[in-house]
Amino acid sequence: MKVLVINCGSSSLKYQLFDMENEQVMVKGLVERIGIPGSVLTHRPGNEKHVFETQIPDHKKAITLVLEAIIHPEYGVLQSMSEITAIGHRVVHGSEDYAFSVLLTDDVMEVIKKNIELAPLHNPPNIMGIEACQYLMPTVPQVCVFDTAFHQTMPPKAYLYGIPYEYYEKYKIRKYGFHGTSHQYVSQRAAALLGQPRNELKIITCHLGNGSSISAVKGGQCIDTTMGFTPLEGLMMGTRSGDLDPTVVTFLMEKEGWSCAEANNFLNKQCGVLGLSGVSSDFRDLESAAQEGNQRAQLALDRFAYGVKKFIGAYTAVLNGVDALVFTAGLGENSASMRGEICQGLDYLGIEIDAEKNKVRGQEAFISTVASKTKVLVIPTNEELMIARDTYEIVNREK
Ligand code: AMP
Repeated sequence: MKVLVINCGSSSLKYQLFDMENEQVMVKGLVERIGIPGSVLTHRPGNEKHVFETQIPDHKKAITLVLEAIIHPEYGVLQSMSEITAIGHRVVHGSEDYAFSVLLTDDVMEVIKKNIELAPLHNPPNIMGIEACQYLMPTVPQVCVFDTAFHQTMPPKAYLYGIPYEYYEKYKIRKYGFHGTSHQYVSQRAAALLGQPRNELKIITCHLGNGSSISAVKGGQCIDTTMGFTPLEGLMMGTRSGDLDPTVVTFLMEKEGWSCAEANNFLNKQCGVLGLSGVSSDFRDLESAAQEGNQRAQLALDRFAYGVKKFIGAYTAVLNGVDALVFTAGLGENSASMRGEICQGLDYLGIEIDAEKNKVRGQEAFISTVASKTKVLVIPTNEELMIARDTYEIVNREK
């Protein structure tokens, strides 16, 4: 069975085609600048790379080109589109409606559309991708895998804010959490690597990339996470502020004469390590600048690590101890220095890193000392595989 996984952003589309016999990726690729001059498709079967620069005005055209590439006689991997048995879509917001992945139906589409108001930047491009697939492959079943689903197990005391309850009822204002597919994947993988049943483990998963979030996972279920009503809450990120006193926003709006849209743009695009350092939102740039003596780059890195450390402490308390601490995503998988800085001084909690083992990059590894009570692991995330697995399972179940 071949499963195509699609992840649509507003101007980009990532895809991976899985052979579910062996869970191998047959081909993957990326369409960039959809609807913008300079559109490009990068198609990667195995170690090859084929780049096509052509006009791609919308997601339908993007998916048409992807399908053509997949069945192309030279660089394709399938004989015909009919070999694709199912399509799995990443959908950002499932609200309280979906705690699991679901087969796409008209009713599901209605709910995803209803949730646009909770994720105005993310759900619309997800919908465009789904609709394009419906148009191009009307008989192929499609599955929606939600970023928020894994966090639906949080109890009300974790997801409610200290605002009048009526706004939760009226507007569904609450913490939802994001990166759920990643937290779920790495927590499952950690249990497998530890050789212990998931339902006996307490795990803290740190997804640290351009967007960052941390989850507390008890017995395989998420009980708290740092991102909230939107992906702005929690840790300071590449360009997002993370937690701050809400009054800072109203104060700045008054002082600077900003509209809501301007304040939103400021919090999402101009803050985080970019705003603090004045150097870059990219952690590699910050690490190089800090090494060259840029003090604000160092300050941004220190502030970021401090934020992660505080949540590890908080979630250790929430979980009443922690068996495993997992680092994933671009920064978590690759930056030994950031992992080292975060874990420094956590020995009281039973977390000790082995400097030599911590040198690892982008591969699964235990990086804690033998004596460390809590095992510390690096696990590259694989949201696409998780989406492919859910799609495969749901489509087989529905047969
Ligand atoms: P992601 O959003 O998961 O793709 O992660 C992107 C972030 O990871 C960027 O800020 C990158 O600078 C950072 N990153 C990737 N590789 C490294 C590395 N080797 N060292 C430090 N940061 C890295």
